[in-house]
Amino acid sequence: MRNATLWRSLLGVEKAVIEEVEFDEDEQLVVAHVRPRKRARDRCGRCGRASPGYDRGEGRRRWRALDLGTIQVVLEAGAPRVNCREHGPTVAAVPWARHGVGHTYAFDAQVAWLATQCSKSAVTELMRIAWRTVGAIITRVWADVEAVHDRFAGLRRIGIDEISYKRGHRYLTVVVDHDSGRLLWAAPGREKATLHRFFDALGEERCSQITHVSADGADWISAVVAARCPNAVRCADPFHIVKWATEALDDVRRQAWNAARSQAGGRSTRIRWSRGRIRQDAAGDAKALKHARYALWKNPENLTTRQQAKLAWIAKTDPTLYRAYLLKEGLRLIFQLDYDEAVEALEAWIMWARRSRIPTFVDLQRRIVKHKASILAAIEHGLSNGLIESVNTKIRLITRVAFGFKSADALIALAMLNLGGHRPILPGRR
Ligand SMILES: [Zn+2]
Repeated sequence: MRNATLWRSLLGVEKAVIEEVEFDEDEQLVVAHVRPRKRARDRCGRCGRASPGYDRGEGRRRWRALDLGTIQVVLEAGAPRVNCREHGPTVAAVPWARHGVGHTYAFDAQVAWLATQCSKSAVTELMRIAWRTVGAIITRVWADVEAVHDRFAGLRRIGIDEISYKRGHRYLTVVVDHDSGRLLWAAPGREKATLHRFFDALGEERCSQITHVSADGADWISAVVAARCPNAVRCADPFHIVKWATEALDDVRRQAWNAARSQAGGRSTRIRWSRGRIRQDAAGDAKALKHARYALWKNPENLTTRQQAKLAWIAKTDPTLYRAYLLKEGLRLIFQLDYDEAVEALEAWIMWARRSRIPTFVDLQRRIVKHKASILAAIEHGLSNGLIESVNTKIRLITRVAFGFKSADALIALAMLNLGGHRPILPGRR
């Protein structure tokens, strides 16, 4: 075979012998006939151990390789079986592809890189594969990355959370590293057994080195953490505490909205804005309250002028809702204070909420009292930095992209490849 070196480089098969390259004009396909080099031959496909030959298997196979220019390329080779001591008759390993798959390493690597960089349609169109195939590819790429990297070395401060996917029907338990900001681990489910699997993977010695654990206050998480890392300081996750307050506020807004709607007798009138003043009737109130949620949710510094006006209007027309808003903001701001200030502010906030005569906030106050120690621990130990929130937001974006995957494994692989600190690199690059 002339230009064998060039072909080996072009095809990314350095450890193979190129027997022949042909061009199928009808199919517009380059077919490269290859075989493993002598030293890479007769090895078990599963464990790589040199093993005696068994039989010729099911004949020749093809592997999709990276395109050459605009032309598709496949490698074709025999796929004999060897008789592994451990695995019995097994198809022999090939140096250009993972065991039992139809794409080369280079192809897989490019798909994994693209999946962390581009849209779904960009990956599937460019690589001419289905999104489910992308899912299968990134799952095996991540499995290989996971096998060679020790993600848990030197782990000290972790955050545990649950994230919903499949439109809220399924959950992932996720663990992040507070010090590196990386996603460490994720698994389907949100129960004690799920989290025990993480600590099992971590091992007893490393569990004992964990100094801080932040979580959302769910009992199933606290129970497992108390059992597996008894010495770790348990911190509340500020992101969730603020979320509780936002939910309480939304509850108050909904009540106000329902009240306004029943007053209006179901009529619907459009709200009109003129020169910063609002003309409205009860139905207008209802509508305005329905749309006020973003003004109420957002941090004040991010409000648009229109949302500021809406808030001013709420202050004037619905003192209870406005008080609920101030309570939510008050709680959020506590996480931006120094520890000593925060201790005082939290006490004051609890008193304020207790006397607010807003039932949802009185309830919230009880919940806050229950978690007071862990809330203050989060502030004292600097775990109130919004890190989890950002990882959370990123995973949520990924779950949306990963929606078409068949398995949770593919979703986890995509999240880990994106946020786990070992992003894929393009084949042939360093
Ligand atoms: Zn084997």
